[in-house]
Amino acid sequence: MFEKILIANRGEIALRIQRACRELGIKTVVVHSEADREAKYVRLADESVCIGPAPSRESYLNMPAIISAAEVTDSEAIHPGYGFLSENADFADRVEKSGFVFIGPRPDTIRLMGDKVSAKRAMIEAGVPVVPGSEGALPDDPQEIVRIAREVGYPVIIKAAGGGGGRGMRVVYTEAALLNAVTMTRSEAGAAFNNPEVYMEKFLENPRHIEIQVLADGGRNAVWLGERDCSMQRRHQKVIEEAPAPGVARRLIERIGDRCADACRKMGYRGAGTFEFLYENGEFYFIEMNTRIQVEHPVTELITGIDLVQQQILIAAGEKFTLRQRDVAFKGHAIECRINAEDPFRFVPSPGRITNWHTPGGPGVRIDSHAFNGYFVPPNYDSMIAKVITYGDTRDQALARMRIALSEMVVEGISTNIPLHREMLQDARFIEGGTSIHYLENKLAQRP
Ligand code: ADP
Repeated sequence: MFEKILIANRGEIALRIQRACRELGIKTVVVHSEADREAKYVRLADESVCIGPAPSRESYLNMPAIISAAEVTDSEAIHPGYGFLSENADFADRVEKSGFVFIGPRPDTIRLMGDKVSAKRAMIEAGVPVVPGSEGALPDDPQEIVRIAREVGYPVIIKAAGGGGGRGMRVVYTEAALLNAVTMTRSEAGAAFNNPEVYMEKFLENPRHIEIQVLADGGRNAVWLGERDCSMQRRHQKVIEEAPAPGVARRLIERIGDRCADACRKMGYRGAGTFEFLYENGEFYFIEMNTRIQVEHPVTELITGIDLVQQQILIAAGEKFTLRQRDVAFKGHAIECRINAEDPFRFVPSPGRITNWHTPGGPGVRIDSHAFNGYFVPPNYDSMIAKVITYGDTRDQALARMRIALSEMVVEGISTNIPLHREMLQDARFIEGGTSIHYLENKLAQRP
């Protein structure tokens, strides 16, 4: 087992990884920007290294600075968390070439899955169902693009092969708008992801977003750990997640879960990963794979009792991965609300000093947060400041506990989206379960 791990991230996930390490008896090194000097997890870590000024480009995305921090602290492995460099194959490569263990899949797997066109091709080969669309990237010939769109059938969605974080996508309803949309998405993708390649998919009108969590040892052993329903989204960003997905037949989940585990064996997938699907009319359609730990991983932990971050570390350390599918049992229901520092209905970020901070507790309540009373939320990064996760024997109990938790939570000095969550927890359709990915946006659009 490792003696010391460097955490190349910030915020709640830096603290989450630190807690997993402590339980395993591993020392932690936290790297941080100048803006995060005062963070709680920086003070709690065994060692910390400032790697640059506030802008991510100069700190959390600064590969040489992170690798030198690992060198000077004698770290053995690097955990990248989510976001930042977590799905950067070049970073994983450099980490390994510098003699450290990258806690994640092999660089070539990250590269394969990071390009959504090659990822889809790999899924088709592995027998995982995908959204119907163009075979590979769109060609240059406009007539050919028009032909493909007719074949797929409108509406279609043009997506960047290198896209991520809900960016680089455009929905097209008519042929008249098609070529312009392709040109615009290409140029945006070139600028944002350094890869102008785009592809086309059928735009599913009312799907749910359901994803499968996997763990695999890089060889023959791969298991799936159930699903998460992340349909409650705004601008393709998840807001509330839950497990299991309400109202989906277990045999359908089992079938797709087995396909995902098979795909992992075929790819020699190593570590934790997520297969993201759209789900409509009883069918699953693969959209992308995330080759890292995800924000919403706690809901899976609560219904399986398996610590996903510890598993990532154990697998990376080459400890024998003994978990078998028959050992994975699902119990109860879990829901996560992402608490963001932003105006709850206008969504403008609201960084600043937290003047009063009180988090809920009690049975079935888990809070993953790096914030505290007096904490200054820097304006430089993602606005998520906490995750409130509740567990219950039933979905109703998890919902009831979430209502109580949100009613107890106090955050002052900055705005948060807690009022939006409180509203959603009273929403009749959400309470019923099974809303589509458009539900939240439609609801917001109807607000006076
Ligand atoms: P990203 O990597 O940017 O998150 P994804 O491919 O995972 O991109 O898509 C993000 C979200 O965009 C999905 O959760 C869904 O809401 C929407 N989306 C993507 N592809 C389609 C599609 N073919 N039809 C309908 N919605 C889609």
